[in-house]
Amino acid sequence: MNIRSQIAMVFHLDKCIGCHTCSIACKNIWTDRKGTEYMWWNNVETKPGTGYPSKWEDQDIYKGGWEKKGKNIKLRGMDKKSTYLNIFHNPNMPSMDDYYEPWTYDYGHLLDAPEGDDQPTARPISLVTGGPMDIKTGPNWDDDLGGSKDYARKDINMKDISPAEQEAMFQLERMTMHYLPRICNHCLNAACVAACPSGAVYKRGEDGIVLINQNKCRSWRMCVSACPYKKSYYNWNSGKSEKCLLCYPRLESGQAPACMHTCVGRIRYLGVLLYDADKIKEIASCDEKDLVSKQMEIYVNPFDEEVIKAAKANGVADSTITAAQQSPVWKFLKVWGIALPLHPEFRTLPNLFYVPPLLPTMGTTSSGTYESTSSSLWGTIEESRVPMQYLANLFTAGDTEKVKEVLKKLMAVRIHRRDVTVGDFKKEEVAKAFAETGLTPEMADDIFRLTSLPKFNERFVIPAAHREEAEELIENTADIKGNKGFGSVQKPKRI
Ligand code: SF4
Ligand code: SF4
Repeated sequence: MNIRSQIAMVFHLDKCIGCHTCSIACKNIWTDRKGTEYMWWNNVETKPGTGYPSKWEDQDIYKGGWEKKGKNIKLRGMDKKSTYLNIFHNPNMPSMDDYYEPWTYDYGHLLDAPEGDDQPTARPISLVTGGPMDIKTGPNWDDDLGGSKDYARKDINMKDISPAEQEAMFQLERMTMHYLPRICNHCLNAACVAACPSGAVYKRGEDGIVLINQNKCRSWRMCVSACPYKKSYYNWNSGKSEKCLLCYPRLESGQAPACMHTCVGRIRYLGVLLYDADKIKEIASCDEKDLVSKQMEIYVNPFDEEVIKAAKANGVADSTITAAQQSPVWKFLKVWGIALPLHPEFRTLPNLFYVPPLLPTMGTTSSGTYESTSSSLWGTIEESRVPMQYLANLFTAGDTEKVKEVLKKLMAVRIHRRDVTVGDFKKEEVAKAFAETGLTPEMADDIFRLTSLPKFNERFVIPAAHREEAEELIENTADIKGNKGFGSVQKPKRI
């Protein structure tokens, strides 16, 4: 066993209200500089939709992530030959059209316009050319299913859904959507780290945060094309790549990342996981159908004596082990089994997990009318408005049974809580819900507590900082002269 610690997050999608506060908080702190105008380290997409950059999930276009070749995996679209051939022109890079042309408005005109008959307007001004522009697209162009003909219907996750079923999804009375907040996944098998020819992208030893050393970055931009989530960006002004750094300066002073701190829906949970690094290769290259269950196996029980011994032998601090034992992410993932990775088929072993949305599945339409209740326990899941295949394509590499399993658990919690507060379910129905999902009333109460009423310190659990680590970080960064970029901390030597 090679036990290491990883900061991980869970996003509860039923709680996201799509307010974009998280994106704005992140933007204000990290990407309001020249060269970062188009970057959204945190963005929130409407699903179904094509997202940002447009169609980022379609690896036939962008060739990101890993693909299985025989028993092994290789970076998709990158081998020695193509790396050399593409070094001065990488055809797999998203273009400005795929992101959007950033703009501001001519606000000064509102104040300076001469007196006239018409109200002055603030015209959009391109942040690239400095001239007036027509806005054609933006990072949230398809927000709330806007322009769904061009966007939602072109969502790559519609694959394997029959045309008739797709058509039914877009009938007005059946249409539904949910939000998908996204940041860098700080993956265990990060494609950006593997793709960088300069060794500038690295995973921090003590907490698994993936960073880019600005001094080492040589503008190859391989991290941008290799990341299947398109969460590494190129700064045209500094000539360096940049990405989400999980607000590590905030974490190091005991504060939550800005996106989490400001989250209006309180959908975000952050905690430590312990994992066995010796298993990364085996799990990342397993059969697609096993990817989700195998990835769950890599996270090991922080209460297990053998795990604790191996973690300590690797230099994992006692406070980190204690934080792992209290981690809300551990509960969502392994105790209750209700959170899933986004696009596990990319094989990067992402460390952000999503509680899939139950609400858009509610309301059956088998009778042609909108119903919010069903006579059968799992009726709303079996006759869901959202095809299970769609959610499966997002969270389980196409395995519909795995998504149903999680949704049934979420439904069982609702059945239990209704039984507690209203009491109109037959006792045998409640017992059946527990028997079929493997939950217990205590677990259902715990899930209810952590999803509905948690205090901040239940959602955000990190180890106390260690003075000796802080000193080590300062020593490691002291020799970086004149660097004003991000992600410049050198790899600490602890693990
Ligand atoms: S999600 Fe983050 S860690 Fe994973 S490959 Fe992309 S940039 Fe790298
Ligand atoms: S702040 Fe929270 S609720 Fe609002 S969009 Fe972001 S993740 Fe969703």
